[in-house]
Amino acid sequence: MKRGAKKILFVASEAYPLVKTGGLGDVIGSLPHALHAGGADIRLVLPGYRSLLRQLDQVKILGWCDVRGAEGIVSARVLETHHPDLAFPLWVVDCPTLFDRPGNPYVSANGHDWPDNAERFAVFSRVAALLAQDVLDIGWQPEVVHTHDWQTGLVAAFLADQPVRPKTVFTIHNLAYSGYFSHGDFVRLQLPSHWWSSEGVEFHGGFSMLKGGVVYADAVTTVSPTYAAEICTPAFGYGLDGLLLSRQHKLHGILNGIDTVVWNPATDEYLPAHFSPGRIQPGKRRNKQALLERFLPQPDEAALKAPLLGMVGRLVEQKGIDWVLAAMPVLLAETDARFVLLGSGQIAYEQKLTRLARQHPDRVFVEIGYDEPLAHLIEAGADMFMMPSRFEPCGLNQMYSLHYGTLPIVFKTGGLADTVVDANKATLKDATANGFVFDTPDVAAFLDAIRRALDVYRKPAQWRGLQQTGMRQSFGWSESADHYLSLYSSSSSRSGHALEPA
Ligand code: ADP
Repeated sequence: MKRGAKKILFVASEAYPLVKTGGLGDVIGSLPHALHAGGADIRLVLPGYRSLLRQLDQVKILGWCDVRGAEGIVSARVLETHHPDLAFPLWVVDCPTLFDRPGNPYVSANGHDWPDNAERFAVFSRVAALLAQDVLDIGWQPEVVHTHDWQTGLVAAFLADQPVRPKTVFTIHNLAYSGYFSHGDFVRLQLPSHWWSSEGVEFHGGFSMLKGGVVYADAVTTVSPTYAAEICTPAFGYGLDGLLLSRQHKLHGILNGIDTVVWNPATDEYLPAHFSPGRIQPGKRRNKQALLERFLPQPDEAALKAPLLGMVGRLVEQKGIDWVLAAMPVLLAETDARFVLLGSGQIAYEQKLTRLARQHPDRVFVEIGYDEPLAHLIEAGADMFMMPSRFEPCGLNQMYSLHYGTLPIVFKTGGLADTVVDANKATLKDATANGFVFDTPDVAAFLDAIRRALDVYRKPAQWRGLQQTGMRQSFGWSESADHYLSLYSSSSSRSGHALEPA
């Protein structure tokens, strides 16, 4: 580490490969590495979930933090470890009563939020705020604390009360999840009473941890320029649009990158065959065959030739899964397309997908669950990727798709609008087209975009051109990491794609 390197404390609730439920895990698994590569001195703090503790080898106890919980004082042990997948030390907040339990970081096995989530993430945030002030006398004092999503929203709020403190940056990865809890929780957790106001964390009779980050952080970022503008409007703001609009001077949209070591079609360890922009076939075809073989005993030439449309993701309304369910029967009737879908989420969507797969066993392939290797194989083996999200802060899957020569079909919103260029006359001519975009939020427009994609699929030379354009794009983190580094350094908190004040 360079002497004088900027010290950044990263605080988050998940990080690939240790713990991941979605895009946040991917981002925290890669952005700190890009910052480290850019010369920053990083520490990452995560909660000590059972599944995470199991993956740690040698740990050192840095000390204990006693902080206020819901029923009294909670004692958290702070551990340090050097994990082989991380280029910097990992700090873990080990508090067994709150984090040593099976399953998902946020929900229990029955899919409901853990009932003590307010306490879990308030305690985690309190400990992180203490670490940001080096209360354990470790001798490492961060200049910047970068926190992520509602689980860490209170860190900036706790620090704002301190006379001397590091600069705080809060990133919104998805405004739809606000960390909303009751007034009773606020009282039980003995949160500072001056926070209880519409100018503080109060929100519709309860309080929002995410709002804490927006109000109290020195700079707020979100993960694409378009989403940064969208969340200042009632349609996307989840009731926080007015607040965000009033904070536009400190709001920045910085597009996520992807981890091009984990997601690289030329080296991906989950793929049976590799490929690159200069030589897409036969590698891609071999992956398509392997993907089909997962679901069919012996895929024939017709199956290999037919367009294969993939989808990976959470099965929730945000992702437009209802539009996909409405579009598939139409396409099954009028085309020879096949579909492969991987995901989990709302039971009703899982059941509808499973039923459709049972009705069309040779054309609709569905896997309910979470399966990292299959996600990679779908990105590599499908021809097109459906991502008709109603809103999408950034979205990673469309970038993985572009990188893997799997043309994305997306709704024009958030990060999808910032990364996918619709194939039309002009963009085909100037060779900027890399996918298919629809801009009316309904099934008819989605179907129209798919039909346009199927038309181009029948023109192999044109299809290859689009694949190459997507595969040659640069989605690495270095440009975004530069934006973050200049944001950390700027005293006025202005960098990246800052919005102009209204
Ligand atoms: P979000 O964060 O809203 O869920 P993103 O597109 O930003 O959506 O990121 C989702 C990440 O989670 C991607 O890496 C995607 O491959 C992964 N993912 C989502 N669902 C599954 C699943 N069922 N199995 C494997 N990976 C999944």
